[in-house]
Amino acid sequence: SDPTLRPDRLPEDADRALRPQVLADFVGQAEARANLSVFIESAKMRGEAMDHTLFHGPPGLGKTTLAQIMARELGVGFRMTSGPVLAKAGDLAAILTNLEPRDVLFIDEIHRLSAVVEEVLYPAMEDFALDLVIGEGPAARTVRIELQPFTLVGATTRLGLLTTPLRDRFGIPTRLQFYTEDELDLIVTRGARLLGIEADAEGTREIARRARGTPRIAGRLLRRVVDFVTVEGTGRLTRAIADHALTRMGVDHLGLDGADRRYMLLLAENYGGGPVGVETIAAALSESRDAIEEVIEPYLLQQGLIQRTPRGRMLAAKAWRHIGLEQPRSAAQ
Ligand code: ADP
Repeated sequence: SDPTLRPDRLPEDADRALRPQVLADFVGQAEARANLSVFIESAKMRGEAMDHTLFHGPPGLGKTTLAQIMARELGVGFRMTSGPVLAKAGDLAAILTNLEPRDVLFIDEIHRLSAVVEEVLYPAMEDFALDLVIGEGPAARTVRIELQPFTLVGATTRLGLLTTPLRDRFGIPTRLQFYTEDELDLIVTRGARLLGIEADAEGTREIARRARGTPRIAGRLLRRVVDFVTVEGTGRLTRAIADHALTRMGVDHLGLDGADRRYMLLLAENYGGGPVGVETIAAALSESRDAIEEVIEPYLLQQGLIQRTPRGRMLAAKAWRHIGLEQPRSAAQ
């Protein structure tokens, strides 16, 4: 059974199927891509491990994807773990001692590494060595174990939470940006093709416009629209059915979802547009502060819907217009 003929029964790993495999298929992030291709090529020519790379930016922009692409383009192995998973120093030591020469080790959420695990990482990154403490008390001594040269790729949504010593050990810090509508349109068009769905240009454009600048969201919206196309439509992804499906999912014409609107309504209705501290917002919305700062706010800031001031968050005029409420005179900027 060809899954492309049954878009309602996508394989579990549909997400993996949509993931670009090589740098040439990776849309957007032009500057990061151009730099990375030079560093990858140079590492290959010198036969060395590529320099440690740090990707930072909001979730879903392609940090994991780029790390996997790097390993593939370098022709080396890829190992993946994350900050919260590495509880003990020994967990990281076990991974490091098992790396093959020049492998890529990807650590997601690297800002959540514990201090003891981070200590292990410093000599590993700098000298490809592991300093192990043997024994306890006065008899304790340190032995140094040589590691294979490797490339650490770290990913974080919160650059500000990284310690300075860790940050300084990355030779290639790279910030990922929100994607433009044109870039997301290319990603959605390619995704529709991979899912075996015929799509109108205005149909993919509608999804791209409402994907919150984020490929992961574009992929998720595309799959849901394809569900509507399959069940209700004529088998063709048109602008009308995309609009219908996205509106049913609570995604408005700016691409904002229920959480975004609750955030803006809270500021408008309860605080006259602000300023309000982030802790207050988190408590009122029953969201974690991290979710507010990592997921909701970056896009609202980028769209000019809110502003960050020293005294807290404020709704911008554009947000008042968007939620259809009158901006109080005292809050006018
Ligand atoms: P992050 O690690 O930054 O949270 P991921 O690398 O996991 O993001 O990407 C999220 C999803 O978006 C994946 O399914 C991936 O295939 C898709 N994606 C990310 N960047 C791109 C891109 N430039 N082109 C096409 N798809 C992308």
